[in-house]
Amino acid sequence: RSTAEKFEFQAEVSRLMDIIINSLYSNKDIFLRELISNASDALDKIRFLSLTDKEILGEGDNTKLEIQIKLDKEKKILSIRDRGIGMTKEDLIKNLGTIAKSGTSAFVEKMQTSGDLNLIGQFGVGFYSVYLVADYVEVISKHNDDKQYVWESKADGAFAISEDTWNEQLGRGTEVRLHLREEAGEYAEESKLKELVKKYSEFINFPINLWASKEVDVELYGYGIQKEVTGEEYTKFYHSLAKDFSDEKPLAWSHFTAEGDVEFKAVLFVPPKAPHDLYESYYNANKSNLKLYVRRVFISDEFDELLPKYLNFLMGLVDSDTLPLNVSREMLQQHSSLKTIKKKLIRKALDMIRRIAEEDPDESNDKDKKDDDESSDIDEKKGQYAKFWNEFGKSIKLGIIEDATNRNRLAKLLRFESTKSGGKLTSLDQYISRMKSGQKDIFYITGTNKEQLEKSPFLERLTKKNYEVIFFTDPVDEYLMQYLMDYEDKKFQNVSKEGLKLGKDSKDKELKESFKELTKWWKGALASENVDDVKISNRLADTPCVVVTSKYGWSANMERIMQSQTL
Ligand code: ADP
Ligand code: MG
Repeated sequence: RSTAEKFEFQAEVSRLMDIIINSLYSNKDIFLRELISNASDALDKIRFLSLTDKEILGEGDNTKLEIQIKLDKEKKILSIRDRGIGMTKEDLIKNLGTIAKSGTSAFVEKMQTSGDLNLIGQFGVGFYSVYLVADYVEVISKHNDDKQYVWESKADGAFAISEDTWNEQLGRGTEVRLHLREEAGEYAEESKLKELVKKYSEFINFPINLWASKEVDVELYGYGIQKEVTGEEYTKFYHSLAKDFSDEKPLAWSHFTAEGDVEFKAVLFVPPKAPHDLYESYYNANKSNLKLYVRRVFISDEFDELLPKYLNFLMGLVDSDTLPLNVSREMLQQHSSLKTIKKKLIRKALDMIRRIAEEDPDESNDKDKKDDDESSDIDEKKGQYAKFWNEFGKSIKLGIIEDATNRNRLAKLLRFESTKSGGKLTSLDQYISRMKSGQKDIFYITGTNKEQLEKSPFLERLTKKNYEVIFFTDPVDEYLMQYLMDYEDKKFQNVSKEGLKLGKDSKDKELKESFKELTKWWKGALASENVDDVKISNRLADTPCVVVTSKYGWSANMERIMQSQTL
């Protein structure tokens, strides 16, 4: 069309499209999943806006929040239409021509090597999967604030936009028209489409009509979670929430109803893997993965007030009957019920994580139980906590630092290696169960790695006397131990710091006396700004002397961390 405005795709998008077009990826079905998901998102947006502004929906057919899928068998055109929010001309240029999300370039790289397109939705580029099955795509869209436009592209590096004067007027919403490729003939079959729509509509909160042969063929509803959900369904639901369509199951889930002053239902999941950018922008807002619904109406998936940052790795949804439906997001954010919801969600989340450990045979000290029970259920749970710890251990540590109220609960979830853990992870409870009689403190040492720490002179005497010492080798551990002062009435003692008590020795006093002159001379000989004191100690076995840090000062490891940060 001569009036069309031409645009070039952002280089990144072009590359992505090339990969998709040339991909030998066999599961091309996913394009429909992505289109249904986009239609559903668009409907969620308009429904949310309509809560505070009824006018926005318009009238007649425009108020029908639904998705229509139509097939023109002769022309091999498949179209997906929604009455969602629609896109203005500007939106079309921005949303279907550029990629804003970080990490996309890493994804493109990964896809190029692995060829696996299944995760495309997670990276905010799901739309482009249409080119798995189509060689020419039109997106017709009408937003309340603009005229109707057509976006079109043959995936040749460019797209065009024209004001739409020839198609039927949509009223509001978007129609994506796929001109199917020769090889994609199977998607021009009604039975195939039916199967796919069934599969991908399971957790979509809007009716989907599939029109084939000019008749309404099926009407399908998928509506959140019903009663009596099986494990397999939870897994499916998790996959659709997380846009993670790998075969991996979530590590745990919790589905519960809270009653009382504040009523809500929630489902929480621990994903099998941490997202690539979990800690990348930890202190920036809006990273929560919980979807908030009020009385089954989707409100937001960027609601920070539901969970503390350290639990941002959880996925799930919350549906509350107590929150008001007809107020703005800002008002909702200040609603007093949210505090109660948050508190309960944290409790449930920590319970769920604790259960991963409890059900993991690798975690238990009880060896007999482990060997007897060979059910597949047990097999499946084996090693799950170590997996959890590898992916999300840092989040638990950040929780201990940030959440004083739940510090003890979080400390229970802590895992580490120690001089007695035999290369495996162990817990504070297990440490305490192994403590020697008369031992009052929990001993730990910090450093860059276990191998280095094992050689530390600070350990000599403790190991000889058969005391267990925890190795803390993560930089965050130094901060952690500034907040974790005690556990179950036991104090933590850094063995490289002043104040290490290994029980009284009768010879202590005698020794102190006989070396009095030497320690005095020594202290005088060293510059006073470098050392605070010179003392007789019973912490060493073979090494004659050692430099320790004062009780309240930084450990040597902390000095090292701080130095590396300022350099
Ligand atoms: P994502 O859905 O993760 O944002 P997509 O590549 O699927 O990524 O879509 C890109 C953007 O295009 C969406 O964020 C949305 O703004 C816009 N978009 C796509 N489909 C529709 C639609 N049916 N209605 C309105 N906007 C849409
Ligand atoms: Mg999408």
